[in-house]
Amino acid sequence: AAERLAGKTVFITGASAGIGQATAKEYLDASNGHIKLILAARRLEKLQQIKDQVAKDYPTAQVHIGKLDVTAIDTIKPFLDKLPKEFQDIDILINNAGKALGTEKVGNIADKDIEGMFNTNVLGLIKVTQAVLPIFKKKNAGDVVNLASVAGREPYPGGSIYCATKHAVKAFTESLRMELVDTKIRVICVDPGNVETEFSMVRFRGDADKAKKVYENTKPLYAEDIGDFIVYATSRDQNTVIADTLIFSSNQA
Ligand code: NDP
Repeated sequence: AAERLAGKTVFITGASAGIGQATAKEYLDASNGHIKLILAARRLEKLQQIKDQVAKDYPTAQVHIGKLDVTAIDTIKPFLDKLPKEFQDIDILINNAGKALGTEKVGNIADKDIEGMFNTNVLGLIKVTQAVLPIFKKKNAGDVVNLASVAGREPYPGGSIYCATKHAVKAFTESLRMELVDTKIRVICVDPGNVETEFSMVRFRGDADKAKKVYENTKPLYAEDIGDFIVYATSRDQNTVIADTLIFSSNQA
């Protein structure tokens, strides 16, 4: 893996926490620090802490951090255009930014939550992909990794909008893979089950007790498990596409 990853540029959305942050760490480990990371999210201070830690732990790595709200779609292209020259040639895009907001039944879901989930999980992911694709097409190479979810395969009550967004991510991802079939651009969909991150705090609007209960009496996956898989999938021989993978912890399957 280290040889195939060496010198690559990886762009991760939602890199300030959870799976995005852990995926960055897995790339650093797998490449022995010979990697360039573009870490984007809304909380710049969190990204700065991550960058400072990487500088200590992996002095050979290059890290660019930038504030990017994927729902502010007019800012996506300028974000890429303003990347320092050495980060512009992106090799791997990890469309990770995403969220569930609330557990209300359909009749009670607020418009702002519907918009929040669709704009982040679907529209933002599509617009970031559209902005990066020309870079991949120009060199006929690159990996698009989209974080969907088990919720993109199995809907559940109280998760209607989140499940709808993740079904949309899966449909978009499959169409894109078909469109790019004759190219060397790989399109990879990852469907995690229960992963212990800030995800539940966001879903339960900061209610720590409710968030904690999600992981009680279970052995959830950790964000590193998903990061580890993403690194694996993107460091296969170019002819191998690990197209669509469901990842559960052993007691969720
Ligand atoms: P976290 O809540 O821990 O992290 C979410 C990340 O997304 C944060 O870095 C957050 O940073 C960022 N983010 C949120 N909104 C935006 C936005 N509008 N623009 C840019 N970045 C944003 O969640 P996870 O790490 O668990 O989730 C990552 C992905 O994995 C999501 O797509 C989620 O749906 C998916 N997933 C998670 C599962 C789980 O059980 N945890 C299961 C299946 C799928 P900031 O606030 O700084 O912007």
